[in-house]
Amino acid sequence: MVTTFLDTPIEYLKGVGPQKGDTLRKELNIHQFRDLLLYFPFRYVDRSSYQTVGNIKNEEGFVQLKGKITQIQEVGKGRGKRLSAQFSDGTGAVELTWFKGVSYIKNQLKPNIEYRVYGKPKAYGLKYSIAHPELELVENLKGEELGLQPVYHTGEHLTRKNLHSKGIQTIIKNLLVDIPGKINDPLPSWLIQELNLIPRELALLNMHAPKDMQMAKKAALRVKFDELFFLQLELLTRKKITQNKIKGYVFDAVGDAFNTFFKEHLPFTLTNAQKRVVKEIRKDMGTGKHMNRLLQGDVGSGKTLVALLAALIGIDNNFQICLMAPTEILANQHFQTISEFLSKMDLHVALLTGSVKQSERKIIHADLESGRTHILIGTHALIEPKVKFKNLGLAIIDEQHRFGVAQRAKLWKKNTLPPHVLVMTATPIPRTLALTFYGDLDVSVIDELPPGRKAIQTRHYFESSRLKVFKFIENEIKLGRQVYIVYPLIEESEKMDYANLMEGYDSISRRFPRPDYNVSIVHGKMSAETKEFEMQQFVKGITNIMVATTVIEVGVNVPNASVMIVESAEKFGLSQLHQLRGRVGRGAKQSYCVLMTGYKLGENAKKRMETMVRTNDGFEISEVDLKLRGPGDIMGTKQSGVLDLKLADLAKDGQIVSLARDKARYLFEMDPRLEKPEHQDIANILRNILKSKPNWSRIS
Ligand code: ADP
Ligand code: MG
Repeated sequence: MVTTFLDTPIEYLKGVGPQKGDTLRKELNIHQFRDLLLYFPFRYVDRSSYQTVGNIKNEEGFVQLKGKITQIQEVGKGRGKRLSAQFSDGTGAVELTWFKGVSYIKNQLKPNIEYRVYGKPKAYGLKYSIAHPELELVENLKGEELGLQPVYHTGEHLTRKNLHSKGIQTIIKNLLVDIPGKINDPLPSWLIQELNLIPRELALLNMHAPKDMQMAKKAALRVKFDELFFLQLELLTRKKITQNKIKGYVFDAVGDAFNTFFKEHLPFTLTNAQKRVVKEIRKDMGTGKHMNRLLQGDVGSGKTLVALLAALIGIDNNFQICLMAPTEILANQHFQTISEFLSKMDLHVALLTGSVKQSERKIIHADLESGRTHILIGTHALIEPKVKFKNLGLAIIDEQHRFGVAQRAKLWKKNTLPPHVLVMTATPIPRTLALTFYGDLDVSVIDELPPGRKAIQTRHYFESSRLKVFKFIENEIKLGRQVYIVYPLIEESEKMDYANLMEGYDSISRRFPRPDYNVSIVHGKMSAETKEFEMQQFVKGITNIMVATTVIEVGVNVPNASVMIVESAEKFGLSQLHQLRGRVGRGAKQSYCVLMTGYKLGENAKKRMETMVRTNDGFEISEVDLKLRGPGDIMGTKQSGVLDLKLADLAKDGQIVSLARDKARYLFEMDPRLEKPEHQDIANILRNILKSKPNWSRIS
């Protein structure tokens, strides 16, 4: 659709001119005809049908009525003066009212002639009133004003220049007159036919002036498909470019370390999902290409073991491995788990975190450079420039969402070729987002939990059930189990939150007093040592209850803990709640999660609690999360801005995303270099996209 007509500067459009042009540029980023054509309405109002006054039932939404004005009067005085008119359609009467332009409007209104009224009714006692309605004499209505009318987003500055929704509609109409014959369709006919899409030009015309609702839907489908299809083509192309350009180390041997561990020390059989993922990783690292893989798996699905097996393959090929965790607690835990797994093997595992002393640090550095250390586990301390490896071959990153792209990029510089990268995340990313934001990464999914796990039971309680909840805790402790009680900690209300935490800790300590009970507390204001000490008390089973802020959110493994109480659960997001719940249910015993909330819950919070109670499936939860929060919030607004989707919505259009992905793949299979004549338009558009956008989606 590259034509000179669409490149015309916006002020040259009939009805625009320099002043409005300026406003359109500044307010809506509309510079050329093309931009205006792609400025879509966000909804349509059906002007072809009327409601009746008698049928107005609530204040929701706009109504369109046909009837006559029977009485006009000014009410009140001075600044409080307003105009009030009775409007009746035979089924009843509503009041029309104006607070501005009272005398002007009073002179315009004509009694006993048919008007079309459009506006939002508000109830006053038994009657409805519509403030500042749209009024049109029925005899003046032209045919085109009767059908579906587009509604455009506008704003104060725009309205001041007469660019309210109707004003925008007017200039777009002026543009549409010249559109026919000017938009060629970039998609090949095989694709259009297969998906039964309408031509792009027809779609663009019908986005702004739909014949009927069905056409509006077909138009939207076509426009959304185009947006998502080109996005997927872009991502697939970037992936190909990266894979061809960047060489990786070849891990072709599977030797002693892997085999010995697998045959002699593996404490359980792998789940099928773990086996499949290990195979995928092994294949990746054996090719000479650079692995860039995202490993998704729900909490407790056994990602650590998969990471360890990948590490052993690296060791068999004479490379070193690093495993990076977002918190010190988690790094310690990984170090312990992995050291234990490898205790009977002659491999050297080291731990490097911020609290490692200078003297020990020197030894760790030396061991790394000499090649004595096989696996280095740590926090982001291990990406510091001082940390040098003899031969780093694989970097594993746990809980990806805590690491910035820049931090990950530093890992690349730790060896001549970039080490393979395996990113593990326990917060499942909805498929549509994974396909768009990480579309150039390979994704592995562990979609199966180890056998014998009992589904965690989740309940939602209000404050009035507190005594019952305490009784329940008491019973679980009698059974020998341990309990987490988690308080929210939000930056904006930090002081209050700490106060609540300490208050909670006091009341729990009173209810569960020494010497019968031991209660630990962990929060961010403690020194690393105290935190670690308290954590260890809980890990060793010395304390029964762990009161904490979300510092325990990520990764801690205490299989004997069977109850997770979340205080003020309404303050947590879904993925956070799911993470917290994942701290229990790690042993063979039945585990429970209790969500405590205040009585007053917004719709959104209610939905979150319901979802948590209903399902344990992290992928299902992530889909609900996406619908509630939107993609920008989940992936970070910055990245979503780059996406530049005008109509498609990643939260709602998952099916179109998948369809676009499939078709984009198919196109590249059939015509990898886009050489066929019917694919030339696509090739050109794609070339322009790749030229104009930086490669933002690369994970490291
Ligand atoms: P996550 O994926 O949340 O990081 P972990 O790796 O911590 O999960 O694993 C959770 C627990 O499940 C650990 O105690 C681990 O030893 C155990 N586990 C992992 N794989 C298996 C398996 N195949 N069979 C039984 N238990 C397993
Ligand atoms: Mg983990």
